[in-house]
Parts: sequence; C-alpha cells; structure tokens
Amino acid sequence: MVNRLIIFGPPGAGKGTQAKLIAEKLGIGHLSTGEALRNEIKSGSELGKKVQEIMNKGHLVSDEIVIEIVRGALKRAEKGFILDGFPRTLGQAEVLEGIFREMKIFGIKVINLEVDEEELIKRLLNRAKLEGRADDNEQTIRNRMNVYNRETKPILDFYSKIGNLKNVFGMGSVEEVLGRVLKVV
Ligand code: AMP
Repeated sequence: MVNRLIIFGPPGAGKGTQAKLIAEKLGIGHLSTGEALRNEIKSGSELGKKVQEIMNKGHLVSDEIVIEIVRGALKRAEKGFILDGFPRTLGQAEVLEGIFREMKIFGIKVINLEVDEEELIKRLLNRAKLEGRADDNEQTIRNRMNVYNRETKPILDFYSKIGNLKNVFGMGSVEEVLGRVLKVV
C-alpha cells in the first residue's frame, strides 16, 4: 500500500470523509488545508480574519498561505500522509511537485473521487444543515463549483500525464466508496 496520497475531487465529493477514514486505516496523517484554514479562523488571528472573508465567498485563499500550511504539515508527517484539498490550482500542483522533490518524497498516488454534479449540490446543502459550515450556502456552493471547474479540474490532466491518477466512483455509501479506494491504493 502506498502511504503518500492525494485525495482529489469537486466540493462535496467526500474528500474529507474518506481522507479521515483512510488516514485512520493506514496510520498516516490527514492533511486538510480547508481544516487548517478553519482552525486559523477559530484562533481569531489577523490572518484568520483575512482568510474568513475569502473562504465565506467560496473563493480560493492565496497560494502563499496554503503552501506554507502544506510545507509545514508534510514535514511533520513522518508516517505518510493523505493530502485533502490541496492542490487546487495547476500552480499549486507544480509547487507541490517541487516540494516533493526537495523532501525526497516519491511514489505518490492521486485518488480522484467521481460524483455527479446534482448529487454534489444535494450533499453540500445537506451538510449545510448538519454542520453549519459558513461556506455551505447556495451562492457560495455555486462559486466553489465554478472555481473547481475552472481552476482545479485541469489538474487531473497534469496527474494523468504523470501516470499516478486513480479514478474512483464516489457514489454510494461511505463504506462502499472506502472499499473502492482501499482497492486502488
Ligand atoms: P475544503 O474544506 O477543502 O472544502 O476547503 C474550504 C475552503 O478553504 C475553500 O473553498 C477555499 O476557500 C479554502 N481552501 C482550502 N484549500 C485550499 C487551497 N489548496 N487553495 C486555496 N484555498 C483553499
């Protein structure tokens, strides 16, 4: 099994849910940039205030901020990691390749969760009710989908060319999807 993973997919695909379970199962670190940013907001720092404004609109936080988060988290992840929510732009993917080279991290696998757009919206609206995440309202969800299609989706081509992309059908129960993921890692 590979213990250096990236979980990829549109908002609502189940990245966070699956990443958490995979991390537990493999005994590796779950590195979520979204979670790290939400913690920064909770801390009440100046940076957190800036981040909150951007995140609540469904826009992307600057590369500078997220790359710093990822660099630090990778340094601490001695037993392996699953990256969740990063990279989100081609620029981030390229920087990440550089960080991997620098840190001598090889043999990454990218898991792409595939879910219909209609199902994604349904899941996000449902999550809005359950978790009350500030960025799970209809307008923000629409923005995040647009950002995904415009900025994040092109990364799939990048990883497909490198040859480490694993497409996983992301519909069905959490357990069903987890089973499919574990088969390909
Ligand atoms: P997530 O928890 O992965 O859905 O991320 C929630 C929000 O955090 C996103 O809509 C962005 O505003 C921000 N965010 C998370 N990861 C990144 C990233 N890699 N680059 C830029 N912004 C990010």
